[in-house]
Amino acid sequence: MIKNLPLHWKILIGMVLGILVGIIASMMGANQIIVNWVKPFGTIFINLLKLIAIPLIIASLIKGVSDLKDISKLSRMGGRTVVIYLFTTMFAVSLGLILVNIIKPGSSINEQTRQGLLEGYATEASGKIALAEAQKSSGPLQALVDLVPDNIFKAMGDNGNMLQVIFFVILFGIGLILIEPAKAKPITDFIDGLNEVVLKMIDMIMLVAPYGVFALLAALIVESPSWDLFKALLWYSVTVLIGLFILILFVYPMLAKAIGGFSYKQFFAGISPAQLVAFSTSSSAATLPVTMERVHEHMGVDEEVSSFVLPIGATVNMDGTSLYQGVAAIFIAQTFGLELTVGAQLGIVLTATLASIGSAAVPSAGMIMLVIVLGAAGIPEAGLALIFAVDRPLDMVRTIANVTSDATVSIIVAKSLGLLGKPHVRDLDDHYHKGSKLH
Ligand code: ASP
Repeated sequence: MIKNLPLHWKILIGMVLGILVGIIASMMGANQIIVNWVKPFGTIFINLLKLIAIPLIIASLIKGVSDLKDISKLSRMGGRTVVIYLFTTMFAVSLGLILVNIIKPGSSINEQTRQGLLEGYATEASGKIALAEAQKSSGPLQALVDLVPDNIFKAMGDNGNMLQVIFFVILFGIGLILIEPAKAKPITDFIDGLNEVVLKMIDMIMLVAPYGVFALLAALIVESPSWDLFKALLWYSVTVLIGLFILILFVYPMLAKAIGGFSYKQFFAGISPAQLVAFSTSSSAATLPVTMERVHEHMGVDEEVSSFVLPIGATVNMDGTSLYQGVAAIFIAQTFGLELTVGAQLGIVLTATLASIGSAAVPSAGMIMLVIVLGAAGIPEAGLALIFAVDRPLDMVRTIANVTSDATVSIIVAKSLGLLGKPHVRDLDDHYHKGSKLH
C-alpha cells in the first residue's frame, strides 16, 4: 500500500517518523546514536541534491536560453522575471513589517531573558557578524564584480558560486543562439541529451527522499537547543511564522489561481514535494533540482521558462528570508527599546530586499545578511544573539516560502509568455513507481 502512495505523502511520513524518533532518542539519552548512525544518511541526501545542482543548471539553462532562438525573447523573459521577483520580495518584507508592528513581540521579552540570550549566544553571533563584515567591507560594486567569474571551473567547484555559473551559462547560451545553426546543432543535441540524463538522475534521487528527510529531521531534533528557549522567543517566532504562512498558504496559491488557473489542490499537489525538501534541507539551492522537476513535469510550466526562471530565483528571490529579516530587525529594536520611525522602517524594506537577494541559498544565510540590515538601520548587531536559538526552525519555513515563490513566479512568467500548459499531477504515482518516461 505504502508503495503506491504519492511522493509527498511518503516524504511527510518520513518527516513525522524522523521527528518521533528524534524525540524518543532525546528522551532515552540516545542522541549520539542518532548523530553517528542516522545523521550521515541525511548528509548523503543533501550531498546528492547538491551534486546534481550544477549539472542541472548547466544543462537546463543552456537549453533554456538557446531554445529561445532570439535575443529579444530572452530579454523579455529576463525583464519580467527580475521585476516580478523584486515585487514579491518587497511585498514580503512589507508584510513582515506590518505584522511585527501589530504583534510587537519584542515587548514580551523581559530584561532577564534578554541578558541570558545575549550572553548565551554572544560567540555564535559574533561569528556571523564577522562573516557579514567581510562582505560589507568590500565596496559597493563588489556584488557586481562577484557575478563575473575569472575561471569557470573554480566557480563550478564551489556550490556557493551559483550566480557565477549562471552568468557563464547565459553567456554561453547567447553565443549558441548567435552562431550558425548547423554549427550549433551538435552542441544543442548534446545538451538535450544531458538534460534528459540529469532529469532521470533527479528522479532516482527523489526515490530516497523520504529516507533522507527522516534522517535529517531525527538528527535535527537531537541536536536542537532546549524547548525553554523557544518558549521565550515564542511571540517572535509566531510573528515570523504567521507572515510566512500567509505567503505560503494564501498569497502564492491565490496568485497561481488568479493568473495560472491552478486550483488550491493542484498547486500543492504540484509543489509540495519541493516544499517538504526545502523544509528538511533549509536550502533553496539544494531543493532546486526538485523545484525544477515539479514545476516543469507536474505544473505545466514550459521548460523554456522553468529552466531560466528557477535557477535565478533560487539564488536571488527570497521572500521568506526578506520577511524574516524585516521582522527580526524590528524585533531586536523593540527588545532594546528603540523606536524606529516610518522612514527608518521603509529603509528596512530596501535593505532587506537587497540583503535577501545577496543571501546565498544555503542554511542560515539569511541570518548572516541580517547583520547588514541591522547595521544600516542603526540597530545593535549584537542583538543577533537574541534570535539565534530559534533560527533553524524559522529557516526551514522561510526556505519553503522562498521555493514556493520561485515556482509561483515561474507560473506567472510562463502565463504571460503563453508558455503555461495544463498541470498534470494525476500521473504522479505512475511517474515515480513505474519509472515511466518523463515526457
Ligand atoms: N535557507 C534559506 C534558503 O536557502 C536562506 C535563508 O533565509 O537563510 O533559501
